Amino acid sequence: MTANATLTANPTDNIFDQAVLRLDRAFQHSEIDEEAVLKLKYPKAVLEVSIPVRRDDGSLSVFTGYRVRHDDTRGPTKGGIRYHPGVTLSEVKALAFWMTFKCAVVGIPYGGGKGGIVVNPKELSLLELERLSRGFIEQIADFIGPETDVPAPDMYTNAMIMGWMMDEYSKIERRRVPSVITGKPIPLGGSLGRDDATGRGAYYCIKELEQRRKWNPHDIRVAVQGFGNAGQHFARLMHADGYRIVAVSDSRGGIFREEGFDIPSLIYAKNEMRELQAVYCNGSVCETVDAEKITNEELLELDVDILAPAALEDQISTQNADAIKAPVIVEVANGPVTFDADDILRETDKLVIPDILANAGGVTVSYFEWLQNRAGEYWAEEEVQTRLQKIISREFRSIMDLKEEREIDMRTAAYAHALTRIGKAIEAQGTSRYFKSNGH
Ligand code: GLU
Repeated sequence: MTANATLTANPTDNIFDQAVLRLDRAFQHSEIDEEAVLKLKYPKAVLEVSIPVRRDDGSLSVFTGYRVRHDDTRGPTKGGIRYHPGVTLSEVKALAFWMTFKCAVVGIPYGGGKGGIVVNPKELSLLELERLSRGFIEQIADFIGPETDVPAPDMYTNAMIMGWMMDEYSKIERRRVPSVITGKPIPLGGSLGRDDATGRGAYYCIKELEQRRKWNPHDIRVAVQGFGNAGQHFARLMHADGYRIVAVSDSRGGIFREEGFDIPSLIYAKNEMRELQAVYCNGSVCETVDAEKITNEELLELDVDILAPAALEDQISTQNADAIKAPVIVEVANGPVTFDADDILRETDKLVIPDILANAGGVTVSYFEWLQNRAGEYWAEEEVQTRLQKIISREFRSIMDLKEEREIDMRTAAYAHALTRIGKAIEAQGTSRYFKSNGH
């Protein structure tokens, strides 16, 4: 039986099946046994739980949650927990699959995992959110652990939630276990530099490209879709470097301004005034600046130099890939470009810096946090950033070299690069080639 003949065949499992398709393409450019590809087409373990939560008014609600461990050949599975009303099992499986590749791309000793709860956290009070988070850990405690599966924040979860989860797990274990989860608040064992690590990793990718293309940041116009943790920090670092951020958006829509925005002011408006507004602030005094209102769809199609999708998956599909004008797309979000859209972007010569590299800064600093928790010794922020930059730059260059040598797109090169690392670990346990030869 060959790997190709056994693609997972559940037609409703859309996002996961789409994610898996990228394996076959990458396989041709990696140096591993086909069996590794077969193994990676299936998640190792899938858990679905129901979480009863007592509401503030005394009533009871039951939420559905998932935790998926995709592959642990290279180490404990690692990946965030997402709170979103649109969470599905297929999505969590795809996200866990991407984590396996992300950890391998940056060479950290983890496999991939992911979790999610089907919930709109904006509809819960903070106390309800705490009960839900602790309830989820109660249900998945046997599935996770510092040496088995290590969660972290993802969409609409944050450091405080990670702190509650660590505390709940520690109560169950009857000992303090900070390394069971990363992205914790600093006083509870979090790492300096974890908060901005996802955006920072993407920014380091751009710095590499800047050198290659001899860019002057002031000439480069950037559009950022999504203004959550990753999008904000990416925009802030780019802006501080002189890049012109001409458009940003959140789930309610976007703003465009040819001269560029003052990003710290937009961050202030979004986080303190709870609305993304075109403003310039001096301290807490903000005045409106001229800007055009645009939709999220329009933002993606702007004539800019760099497009950074930093929101949800499936934003660039066959519907709009033709209309994308930015020559460089940096995937700050997970999975913003669909499998079919990749082909169109390749034909029109766009450079896509793929999610598994572009947003790997988050999990890399999560790994640093885990190391610090286990050692009981904490690093300065500068050390975290220096180590992160070293890893991202090193892997960016290896992937670019492979891309050029094989004349393939950057995503395929990143997957092939990761697949070689995962495949070597799988092969080290023996494949049919080894067993049929009786080990000779
Ligand atoms: N949720 C983040 C991601 O998608 C971080 C995962 C982690 O730190 O384990 O990469």
